[in-house]
Amino acid sequence: MKIAVIGSGYVGLVSAACLADFGHFVTAVDKDESRIKALQQGEIPLYELGLEEIVHRNVRGGRLSFTQSLGEGIKEAQVVFIGVGTPSRADGTADLSQVEAAAREIAAHLQDYKVIVNKSTVPVGTGRRVKEIIARNLRAPVEFDVVSNPEFLREGSAVEDFMHPDRVVIGTESPRAEELMKEVYRALYLIETPFILTNLESAELIKYATNSFLATKITFINEMANLCEAVGADVQVVAKGMGLDGRIGPKFLHAGPGYGGSCFPKDTRALTQIARLHGERISIVEAVVVVNENRKERMVEKIRRVAGSPAGKTLAVLGLSFKPNTDDVRESPSLAIIRKLLDAGAKVIRVHDPAAVTATRKIFGELLYYCNDPYEAAEGAEALVLATEWNAYRRLDLARLRSLMKTPVLIDLRNVYTPEEVGKAGLRYESIGRRKGTS
Ligand code: NAD
Repeated sequence: MKIAVIGSGYVGLVSAACLADFGHFVTAVDKDESRIKALQQGEIPLYELGLEEIVHRNVRGGRLSFTQSLGEGIKEAQVVFIGVGTPSRADGTADLSQVEAAAREIAAHLQDYKVIVNKSTVPVGTGRRVKEIIARNLRAPVEFDVVSNPEFLREGSAVEDFMHPDRVVIGTESPRAEELMKEVYRALYLIETPFILTNLESAELIKYATNSFLATKITFINEMANLCEAVGADVQVVAKGMGLDGRIGPKFLHAGPGYGGSCFPKDTRALTQIARLHGERISIVEAVVVVNENRKERMVEKIRRVAGSPAGKTLAVLGLSFKPNTDDVRESPSLAIIRKLLDAGAKVIRVHDPAAVTATRKIFGELLYYCNDPYEAAEGAEALVLATEWNAYRRLDLARLRSLMKTPVLIDLRNVYTPEEVGKAGLRYESIGRRKGTS
């Protein structure tokens, strides 16, 4: 099949490359000239495990190409995916301007029947809105269908997730579009991936409900961690005990500095707004949004409690991305904490991250001191905060860290270490959800 994917960010590029790997002929479109030029020269503009190999393989095989021209990109395509960004507006609602602009452009170039597939995360009702926009902007009468096909991939394991999804959700009322979508995902059909075939509204809501549920699970264990600290319990053990219950499951039960990233914060905010717009309240998700926002301040209080006031201090932070294996720093708790430490007067913040320095530098410029490895970051620091659990931070030489730091204090916001091993190495230790003073 011939497919076009509009938007070549995390979702668009991964989808385009993987669909090409399924055997389709895919054109990836992006309006960002530097991104398309980089891709045409064989450079991958984002950090994602396995993506480079799959892009190169399919470009070599003649199944994947890149263009800045939407008209050229969709000309021969039977199916056109929209994978553009849907960031939060100031009021928490989803900003649909990129989706709407893409719909208008598609309409201007539509010359024969195509299925337009919304892969971006969009509020309920957007599929119908896209249909209206396209119908209104057509140059000549042409048949088309609109489908909702939300994406559930996780940054850091995006290729693997796209190739082996837990399910594929397809929302449409058109049997013709449904048949074409089954053809798009034939490779997954053959390996018995569950398919949810439903209407536009249900498909759109499945995505928000899923992300909000996961964000709630994380927030739940974070609040349990607070209680663990107060009563002398260990959240690692509590989470394990809960997670072994088959009705709960162990995933998304890791206490930490709060969820971040390009999806959970904006999707939880958007769901609460969608509900309000329809006269409903999703109080549980409203609470999750507030608790998660407050969590960063709580982390700074924790740092203050063990290391004293940040004012005038040299501090070190390991991990800048919102989670390991990505260079994405959108709504990263680490950056929010760094901002608060700077606001509180920290003199120097020495930072390290295996992939997210370039993205962080775009936000903080030279306000931070960027280091080549975790040990350089620790040099002269009066406290070291482990903010993102990259594998590179799991086996640090703690004695070496201690010898480099001015004051040997490790604040482990991801519970990578145990109080015993850090204590043995001679550092003061603070973590999440373990009794205060276990250090
Ligand atoms: P992104 O910001 O990384 O990429 C979006 C790309 O679209 C950009 O490169 C931009 O230049 C391009 N673009 C915007 N308008 C365009 C247009 N009219 N024509 C051509 N290109 C255009 O975004 P992302 O992280 O890939 O997310 C895309 C969507 O997928 C969002 O709705 C997001 O919520 C959803 N989603 C993201 C993830 C994730 O992990 N990142 C997972 C599932 C779903």
